[in-house]
Amino acid sequence: MANSRGDRLSVKARALAAGLAAGLAALAAATVAAEEFPSKAVTIVVPFAPGPTDTVARIVARSMSASLGQPVLVENRPSVGGIVAPEAVKNSRPDGYTILIHHIGMATIPILYRKLRFDPLTDFEYIGLINEVPMTLVGSEKLPPNDVKELIRYVREHKDKVTFAHAGVGAASHLCGLLFMSFVEADVMSVPYKGTGPAMNDLLGGQVDLLCDQTISTTSQIRSGKVKVYGVTTLRRVASLPEIRTLDEQGLTNFDVAVWQALYAPKGTPRSVVRRLSSALQAAVRDPQVIHRFAELGATTYPPEMATPDALEVRLRSEIARWRPIIDKTGIYAD
Ligand code: ASP
Repeated sequence: MANSRGDRLSVKARALAAGLAAGLAALAAATVAAEEFPSKAVTIVVPFAPGPTDTVARIVARSMSASLGQPVLVENRPSVGGIVAPEAVKNSRPDGYTILIHHIGMATIPILYRKLRFDPLTDFEYIGLINEVPMTLVGSEKLPPNDVKELIRYVREHKDKVTFAHAGVGAASHLCGLLFMSFVEADVMSVPYKGTGPAMNDLLGGQVDLLCDQTISTTSQIRSGKVKVYGVTTLRRVASLPEIRTLDEQGLTNFDVAVWQALYAPKGTPRSVVRRLSSALQAAVRDPQVIHRFAELGATTYPPEMATPDALEVRLRSEIARWRPIIDKTGIYAD
């Protein structure tokens, strides 16, 4: 009797000890991961060709590298719509060494693509938000209209020949183009690229007529007069381009689309590693050089409390809720 009771007790005790040991091992592994991370270079994967998102990644990478004590590299995995890079990061080792930068597209891609091989809401750990950037609607120097009124008339009269460049269905430039078309009530020919960097090159060369892009790319072209500028895509003017009127001011009432950028890690990345990356991002958004550089390019750096996993999750969910009815109304899907 005493023996069997003793046996039962020792089975329980053994189970308890095993559970405790597993818990301690997990804790130790997480602590080691946190203490050791990063022991080599971290790579930020950019979903587009060199252009505005790439520029944001490089500015942030430089500052994060200083606080992580390891190089932070930038790798471009360009694709039309920016859908290849998230899938690649989703499938990479969840160890914090491969992370993703993406923009508002993380909220609109799952609505625009009904067959997608990643889910922004379940396949990633959130690191935090970086910044917010207005776009500007710009045109080739060769395009006859000089302001929005003339542009609307011109687009309606020449819809078979006007071309609108963008970075693919799901990209911010595409979203902005869609919004413009719905305001103007005309469909023009859309020309997809693997990023607005190459789209801007063709706009400068006169091969395409119109492009909506982040001020990060358009500011220098506007200042040097190499493109025609029709307006800012947010309700407020851009501090770095104060003379440029918003589209809303010019009669496209409530035209409001800004690009926000954020960092993600593959699902399953240890919590401690995500925290380390997130605090490096917080240091970056506090870095005066980063704030200054973004401001020169028309972008607003988010405060550190938004460079956090929670803030990014809230933003992602609210943006999906905002864009779903708008996109469903257009009935335009990528697949
Ligand atoms: N600005 C681009 C877009 O349309 C992306 C990029 O090339 O950075 O989403």
